Amino acid sequence: MSSGTRRDEATADLREAVAQLCAHFDNPYWREVDSKRAYPEDFVKALTDAGWLSILIPEEYGGGGLGLTEASVVLEEINFSGGNGAACHAQMYTMAALLRHGSDEQKHAYLPDIAAGTLRMQAFGITEPDAGSDTTRIRTFAARTDGGWVVNGQKIWTSRMQHSDLLLLLARTTPVDEVAKPVDGLSLFLVDLRKAGDAVTARPIETMINHETNEVFINDLFLPESALVGVQGNGLRQVFDGMNAERILLSAECIGDGRWFCDRASSYASTRSVFGRPIGANQGVQFPIARAYAAVTAASLVQRDAARRFDSGEPCGAEANMSKLLCSEASWQAADAAMDTFGGYAFATEYDVERKFRETRLYKNAPINNNLVLAFLGQHVLGMPKSY
Ligand SMILES: Cc1cc2nc3c(=O)[nH]c(=O)nc-3n(C[C@H](O)[C@H](O)[C@H](O)COP(=O)(O)OP(=O)(O)OC[C@H]3O[C@@H](n4cnc5c(N)ncnc54)[C@H](O)[C@@H]3O)c2cc1C
Repeated sequence: MSSGTRRDEATADLREAVAQLCAHFDNPYWREVDSKRAYPEDFVKALTDAGWLSILIPEEYGGGGLGLTEASVVLEEINFSGGNGAACHAQMYTMAALLRHGSDEQKHAYLPDIAAGTLRMQAFGITEPDAGSDTTRIRTFAARTDGGWVVNGQKIWTSRMQHSDLLLLLARTTPVDEVAKPVDGLSLFLVDLRKAGDAVTARPIETMINHETNEVFINDLFLPESALVGVQGNGLRQVFDGMNAERILLSAECIGDGRWFCDRASSYASTRSVFGRPIGANQGVQFPIARAYAAVTAASLVQRDAARRFDSGEPCGAEANMSKLLCSEASWQAADAAMDTFGGYAFATEYDVERKFRETRLYKNAPINNNLVLAFLGQHVLGMPKSY
């Protein structure tokens, strides 16, 4: 039996176990937290207690010791159940940066508690209001001081910060006009928010989805030497490592959404009867769902390939980006087909279609817009001229 086949069998068991947990958090549960704009605390606790959120943490630190292939299954099943992994996915999104670049001291200090569920690493602060997609232009600055750093600056869209103990923060440590390349001079820090006090304040942003996200103001935040992750000045490259993981994992959430939309739409189309027959008998209703199903299935193959490459240490930048593009487009295609299939009822909250439609739209824009994914493919994979 090949190792690939064994891994498929293991993920089938995992899929079943996660699906069973998610069954306790049904669509009315997600509808209610959405309408209250509440954090799904019970769900995140259950997922943590079951060990699924620490699946990427090595066994020596108390985690599952598994890879992105398995973590993808967890997130896909959450979204396929009708839920939304965005409440807690960052612990997986950020893990690659910490595992690959964190010191042994940092790993011993944090990973066992994260694995045990007593510590949360659910927030990362990269985006800034004036820099947007051009991360090299961020202005948050960490200046050297005795025994560490003093950080000042502002972040935006820092999600889950009010439900996290740790924040992975990107800051400049050398001004952009003093470095050879704009990607140089940025550093990554692990901020213990429990010790930050008034130096870090968060102002919630109201959004079209239930997503705890914030404007963050940092004033004279002292960070000890031990907060630096990896090499000073190399932070953006370290973040790029994590970004491939993030793109692969969010692709899995898109696949879960896409499957949910196709399932819901096909069963509604088979039972809703108008003009004396099920609406799904009309090809104008049936074909968009079938086309979306094909798109979701094809995107899923690219996602799995990207995850496999990441897990085996192969280069996966092109695959992670293609996966992000294709999966976010496929889930959006499925969402749109479901909206058409449900007719007016698509707009009624009790069917959950409008909620999932809002939620899945995010993936085309964030954490990186698909335009920039296309620019990466065009410029770095196909070698065409640079636009920025
Ligand atoms: C709900 C939500 C949660 C988020 N959570 C986090 C988080 O936890 N941490 C974090 O750091 N960030 C987070 N983000 C921020 C997200 O990563 C950014 O919104 C994203 O990177 C885009 O930046 P921007 O919004 O400033 O868009 P801009 O950079 O202003 O871009 C606007 C538009 O212009 C296009 N564009 C810009 N330049 C080019 C170009 N050269 N070629 C073609 N098109 C271009 C973009 O693709 C986009 O369509 C979140 C965002 C949202 C909406």
